[in-house]
Amino acid sequence: MRIFVTGGAGFIGSALVRHLIANTSHEVLNFDKLTYAGTLSTVEKVAGSDRYRFVQGDICDRDAVRAAIGSFRPGIVTHLAAESHVDRSIDGPGAFIETNLVGTFAMLSEARCYWQALDGEAQRAFRFHHISTDEVYGSLGETGLFTEETPYDPRSPYSASKAGSDHLVSAWGHTYGLPVLITNCSNNYGPYHFPEKLIPLMIVRALAGESLPVYGKGDQVRDWLFVEDHVRALQAVFERGAVGRTYNVGGNNEKQNLEVVHAVCAHLDRLRPRHDGASYAAQLAYVADRPGHDKRYAIDASRIRDELGWQPRETFESGIAKTVEWYLGNEAWWRPLVAAKAAERRGVAA
Ligand code: NAD
Repeated sequence: MRIFVTGGAGFIGSALVRHLIANTSHEVLNFDKLTYAGTLSTVEKVAGSDRYRFVQGDICDRDAVRAAIGSFRPGIVTHLAAESHVDRSIDGPGAFIETNLVGTFAMLSEARCYWQALDGEAQRAFRFHHISTDEVYGSLGETGLFTEETPYDPRSPYSASKAGSDHLVSAWGHTYGLPVLITNCSNNYGPYHFPEKLIPLMIVRALAGESLPVYGKGDQVRDWLFVEDHVRALQAVFERGAVGRTYNVGGNNEKQNLEVVHAVCAHLDRLRPRHDGASYAAQLAYVADRPGHDKRYAIDASRIRDELGWQPRETFESGIAKTVEWYLGNEAWWRPLVAAKAAERRGVAA
């Protein structure tokens, strides 16, 4: 099958591209603008494959999208390209509206034109798979889980833009009959995660001897999903998911942010102890919380488990160990990004 991946130079998109080339016989076209968050070094390992192509393009540019889809002729479009960092969405929501809403509209419009012109079997088999977040559901209290029926209640410009894009995708399914699928997943972590996000940020700042900023009390809860588990879920959904259906994807790994930071420090203490013998946890510093910071996210992933047989393979303990080891072994990937000030505090809305 030919799979058109948007955002395939970013964190999750590149993991999907690497997985599809390494473990399947699918052909992949990676369509990515290469914003600050996208680097081709994330797909270097598979770039030599004759089943892989790259096109640099903007999803908001309908001509570019039309040309790329028209020449590749995909059976599946997996749409991951987005502005993805909540803190950046607080400082500059415009880019989130542009890429996540207008860009998704452009993708849907071009996919629909292409799909309508397909004949019989190809038209029946075509899928448009939109990758979204659990943040569209808002914030949970101490108990409860997000299911696919939880009402949308986004709180940040990022999650609002993703919620809007989900609604557009759903509307294109209902109104035009485009065969759409949506997945809403929890916080991912793993290799090639841009060092502005919590886990890689803590690793790179710890190694630099800098403070480890924890927002508020650090008691916000997220359900952590290892990125390689996520991309297996995406494959299950676009290959076998029911048209028009939404699937929540989660790791069954609820952790407070503070626990996550302590786990990172413990692995660094073991693998690269500080010269003075102290724990990296000594660098922890509590800072002003993110405005509107959601308290708790947790996913009920029973639908994708029961209907498609997907389950995460990694526990948080095994996944975080692999992640810290990966960052220690791949400094050449993240050091230039850190030098470009990826790891600065953003989103204080002051
Ligand atoms: P990322 O920021 O690491 O990567 C985004 C990629 O999209 C980059 O390669 C960037 O160059 C590209 N891109 C951005 N704007 C573009 C445009 N206008 N045209 C073409 N390409 C463009 O993001 P990620 O963490 O890999 O997230 C991928 C998707 O998964 C996003 O849609 C995000 O909302 C969703 N998601 C992420 C998480 C997570 O924990 N990271 C959780 C749930 C859902």
